[in-house]
Amino acid sequence: MATSILFHAFGLKGIHHEAKQYIQDTILFKARSSITITCPHSGSREATFKDQKRRLLRLGQMGRKRSALDLQLHRLECRKCSRRWRPSIPFADGLRMQLI
Ligand SMILES: [Zn+2]
Repeated sequence: MATSILFHAFGLKGIHHEAKQYIQDTILFKARSSITITCPHSGSREATFKDQKRRLLRLGQMGRKRSALDLQLHRLECRKCSRRWRPSIPFADGLRMQLI
């Protein structure tokens, strides 16, 4: 349900909501990337997960509460060309948040 709230309220696509947490005056949405896997170099759809990275992104206000997105991003390795890449999240370009 919160996946649709993130889409309709904030326009976030390509993520799947997993949990939410209330920290003081902030609602923290935990989510993971659900972007389809396609190698940008060879176009292959066969890849393995190598590691993951956590990014905290500030979202807009929800009533009187602040909100943020805790997003898990995977780094992938192509089985065909052995190159590694991290799928881009277009809605997060230039938005960074160190701590909530
Ligand atoms: Zn490749």
